[in-house]
Amino acid sequence: MTKLGLDFPVFEPGWVWLVGAGPGDPGLLTLHAVNAMQQADVVVYDALVDERILNLLRPDAQRVYAGKRGGRPSSKQTDISLQLVDYAKKDLRVLRLKGGDPFVFGRGGEEGMTLVDHNVPFRVVPGITAGIAGAAYAGIPTTHRDCNSSVTFVTGHGSSGDVPDNINWAALAHGSPVLVMYMAMKHLRRISAELMANGRSGDEPLAVINQATTPAQGILITTLAKAADDVERVGVEPPAVCILGKVVGLRDRLNWLSPQDDVKEVRTVPFEQILELISTPADPQKD
Ligand code: SAH
Repeated sequence: MTKLGLDFPVFEPGWVWLVGAGPGDPGLLTLHAVNAMQQADVVVYDALVDERILNLLRPDAQRVYAGKRGGRPSSKQTDISLQLVDYAKKDLRVLRLKGGDPFVFGRGGEEGMTLVDHNVPFRVVPGITAGIAGAAYAGIPTTHRDCNSSVTFVTGHGSSGDVPDNINWAALAHGSPVLVMYMAMKHLRRISAELMANGRSGDEPLAVINQATTPAQGILITTLAKAADDVERVGVEPPAVCILGKVVGLRDRLNWLSPQDDVKEVRTVPFEQILELISTPADPQKD
């Protein structure tokens, strides 16, 4: 046991861990995620997992790409789930590493169901979801007492590839002061039209945050009415989340990430130094 007395689970052979890798910045990984990466035999990861995060894997771990971007052939969801079962049945420690949180628009639920169907034991490690992290890195709190007491996550992309047909636009427009929209870029024009048709003001502020928490992060502040045009004009690179609501205006004061005039560069400490600090063995004298 270390000085801190923190113990982490052993990754047993034949298990699958569904782990959230967060939105990009490796500093936003959980300790459970790092523990998983140090023990896994095989890692099935998707397109949204940052290369800097993959560097934390055991060097001899087998890497299996299951993403859908970058021109490589897309993997069917059922194939991925069954692949996890196959590896687990071979008695490997199987890490399924997904962007953000595995259970937020990440199909972690589907993969978990397949594991249940095949009697494969599994653990879920939540991750920081892109909507909340992206907003925070843009200086936008997803809730703020003066603005909203609720927030809604919505996807602009259903399994058919179109806007999901089970969205109740009237309820969303009326009932949800802040909307955090995932996979909304392709259909942003239709989404904003639906919200405005159901009573949302076109002047409401909307933030588009792309490649959130990575060095390439971009932020576009627009309005509900102008969002689709502005996104097209600027040519926003995916992935991107949209935040709609009064909270977007708080960025004017809370934009902590923008370089201030007198701060040119963020000073850094190496990750190894942090690891060394927390891995110092307990002092036997004190026990
Ligand atoms: N499970 C993920 C979401 C997967 S759906 C999570 O919890 O974050 C994929 C969508 O997530 C993208 O279309 C985009 O809307 C959003 N997304 C993921 N990573 C992002 C990032 N770094 N910056 C902005 N949006 C991101």
